[in-house]
Amino acid sequence: MTEAIRLTDTDPRFVDEIKEAGGENILMCYQCGTCTSSCPVREIDERYDPLKIMRMAVLGMKKEVLSSDIIWLCSRCYACHEHCPQGVGITEVLHAITNIAEREGKEGNIKIKSLKPRLDGVFNDLIRKYGRLFEIKFFVHLVLLSKGATGLLSSAPDGFVMFRKGKLRLLPQKIKGMKQIGRIFKIVEANKK
Ligand code: SF4
Ligand code: SF4
Repeated sequence: MTEAIRLTDTDPRFVDEIKEAGGENILMCYQCGTCTSSCPVREIDERYDPLKIMRMAVLGMKKEVLSSDIIWLCSRCYACHEHCPQGVGITEVLHAITNIAEREGKEGNIKIKSLKPRLDGVFNDLIRKYGRLFEIKFFVHLVLLSKGATGLLSSAPDGFVMFRKGKLRLLPQKIKGMKQIGRIFKIVEANKK
């Protein structure tokens, strides 16, 4: 069944927000569907449809797009980018959309169901601190966020196997180039403003 879109529920300024956030070519899309057919995530999860996300965004369906957990599934592989005949830069468009969602989530305007932004935050904090992943800390956060404290107990045997195989270090190790890591984070943060 086709659902009607209430124009009063849409936000026509959403597309301009996306353009300002890095998805400046969004309106060049002529809906050929190549991005969707070349997307590897789509092959795994049929709910994921980059073209549909973009059409909803252009129609101003801001709340629906930003509160959907689907928008976080993009793996940034750039396959759609490579195949797009219009040079839309769809990966940037999708990145702009998730950046807006993160901002709106922080301001309390929407509730983000996906764990991805929180895990990205944990990952970034570890890289900022050590220049590399501290696997055991990331593993604990991942399990706590996805399965809770009981999940942590039931995942302990898996953690032990990983530790025995040398995949989990008990103490973090900093890399040598921490100054460069600090500079990279400064540049990224300056570009976000
Ligand atoms: S491949 Fe490009 S032009 Fe075609 S639907 Fe996707 S974004 Fe639009
Ligand atoms: S960048 Fe994202 S939307 Fe594009 S093909 Fe890769 S996973 Fe799909």
